[in-house]
Amino acid sequence: IVKMDKLNKHFGTLHVLKDVDLDVTPGEVVVIIGASGSGKSTLIRCINGLEEFQSGSLEVDGKELLPHGKATKALQTIRTEVGMVFQQFNLFPHMTVLDNVTLAPMKVRGASRDEAEKTAERLLERVGIADQARKHPTQLSGGQQQRVALARALAMEPRLMLFDEPTSALDPEMIGEVLDAMRELAREGMTMVIVTHEMTFAREVADRVIYIHSGEIVEQGSPDDVFDNPQNERTQSFLARVL
Ligand code: ATP
Ligand code: MG
Repeated sequence: IVKMDKLNKHFGTLHVLKDVDLDVTPGEVVVIIGASGSGKSTLIRCINGLEEFQSGSLEVDGKELLPHGKATKALQTIRTEVGMVFQQFNLFPHMTVLDNVTLAPMKVRGASRDEAEKTAERLLERVGIADQARKHPTQLSGGQQQRVALARALAMEPRLMLFDEPTSALDPEMIGEVLDAMRELAREGMTMVIVTHEMTFAREVADRVIYIHSGEIVEQGSPDDVFDNPQNERTQSFLARVL
């Protein structure tokens, strides 16, 4: 569902992604790990066109994203088909939880309010916060807000979900509830690309782990291979620091 070939991305003179190849197959859960500043966020933001790239090719769900952020129909389609959950929940603070979740399906997909609310209620139930639907985001805990963000993304029936450190802004006691919701999603067969520092979770949920070092994929493989038997020296020293 993702075919990335020799992708290069610069911020001015800074070469942030270097000839990155990344293919993701339907149903696969890929976890990306690496040090701060290595390019993890930039990489996944390229996948839904939030960042433009300068060279290489990128296809998402059969639609091609062009270099230099050239606006195409494909870009719009990809944005509606790829869900994203960020470290900061990015909910609309002036709207209720329910309205946060129904907004995009109504505006973008043309769903009726009734239909959108039914779906929203089902999704909020699924992430365990059905009872919070009438509240505003500020009245919720961080873990609850992040689960709203997840429900909001799922309401668009995404073909692919991207997560950028979804638990990094959460208090420790709330991390588990968000990871549980993500585990459930993985179990149901959702295709997911996840940037996380939660190594225990990564090992459990990933089909493939990718280690990125200053914009290059230097190692990838099954969680057992990467965590227990890393081949690259840089992966070894990174894991020695974080495990
Ligand atoms: P972290 O673990 O801290 O989130 P990361 O691996 O996600 O790090 P990126 O955010 O992708 O790293 O950043 C990669 C590099 O690109 C860093 O050197 C960063 O300073 C730089 N960078 C990121 N965004 C921009 C931007 N909008 N303009 C200029 N440089 C940027
Ligand atoms: Mg980041």
